[in-house]
Amino acid sequence: MIRKKVLVTGGAGFVGSHLCERLLNENNEVYCLDNFFTGQKQNIVHLLDNPYFELIRHDVTSPFFIEADEIYNLACPASPIHYQYNPIKTMKTSVMGAINMLGLAKRIKAKILQASTSEVYGNPLVHPQEESYWGNVNPIGERSCYDEGKRAAETLFVDYHKQNNVDVKIVRIFNTYGPRMHPNDGRVVSNFIVQALQGQDITVYGEGDQTRSFQYVDDLVEAMMRMMASRDGFIGPVNTGNPDEFTILELAQKVIELTGSKSKIIYKPLPSDDPMMRKPDISLAKKELDWEPKIKLEEGLTKTIDFFKTIV
Ligand code: NAD
Ligand code: UDP
Repeated sequence: MIRKKVLVTGGAGFVGSHLCERLLNENNEVYCLDNFFTGQKQNIVHLLDNPYFELIRHDVTSPFFIEADEIYNLACPASPIHYQYNPIKTMKTSVMGAINMLGLAKRIKAKILQASTSEVYGNPLVHPQEESYWGNVNPIGERSCYDEGKRAAETLFVDYHKQNNVDVKIVRIFNTYGPRMHPNDGRVVSNFIVQALQGQDITVYGEGDQTRSFQYVDDLVEAMMRMMASRDGFIGPVNTGNPDEFTILELAQKVIELTGSKSKIIYKPLPSDDPMMRKPDISLAKKELDWEPKIKLEEGLTKTIDFFKTIV
């Protein structure tokens, strides 16, 4: 059997570790590249004994050379507290990381997929968001290093395709959750579960009437792999997310119910530029990838709570 050689940047992170695992299960050879800014060895320690798995400590802002058939470019901190910690580095990771990985793909003729984000839509004025919407993004706000970095990366992907014929694929990922989220990375699902399990107050920002659509990580990995295998010439961008939309208050109540916690809900100020609503239109993913999410919020939260019970 010929194994594909697949490079996953950001492979020791939350999503990357699930992707590496799935790629190995499907008989690929996996090179997991990470600088361990937000990724953890713990996420991939169970893969280290696999002879077809290789862990490489490297920062995507520096060039990197390897022979591979496919590249999944996930390297980038994804949670607001981490990407705002060093905003210049976040922008460098998105832009220089894209240039380095696209340059590599061009040289070795690999197919390359970019993990973009629903944040390219900013605080959207169109609801639900379809791929043709250009977004409403503040270029100089708290979130800009991430949003504009990811937008610039999309531009680079499309231009390497047009100018150099690189085989590119772009997915726009909506809020994703599941086991191996970092307990301290400040994202809403991990925050609420940790708070509920530890009996601390649940911190709802603003009134809790802002909405998000939460996708379970296995559904995302399936969509990314289908996108990588999609027909020649289809580059996206394509939304991947779960269109079931919840207010943040509803999420808090659901977490309390599923954990049986006695935690109380408290309200804290809404961070600036926090999008008021987010819900993907996934018609394109249905049509091109024959994909839609399978895991409902309650089922996914239950699995995620079980994971957090083992670490907090
Ligand atoms: P994560 O922070 O767990 O993973 C990111 C990984 O990239 C980490 O392992 C980190 O150490 C690594 N990394 C960061 N900067 C790097 C650099 N300069 N060089 C090498 N490695 C670097 O986040 P995640 O949730 O797994 O997100 C993975 C990707 O998916 C990111 O690109 C993110 O923008 C995108 N995404 C995620 C979500 C989500 O809800 N989880 C939503 C939209 C987009
Ligand atoms: N949020 C919250 N309490 C928390 C963490 C986040 O109410 O402890 C809110 C946050 O203000 C945002 C939503 O939950 O409106 C999702 O936040 P997250 O950081 O998970 O993702 P993003 O804002 O990037 O979609």
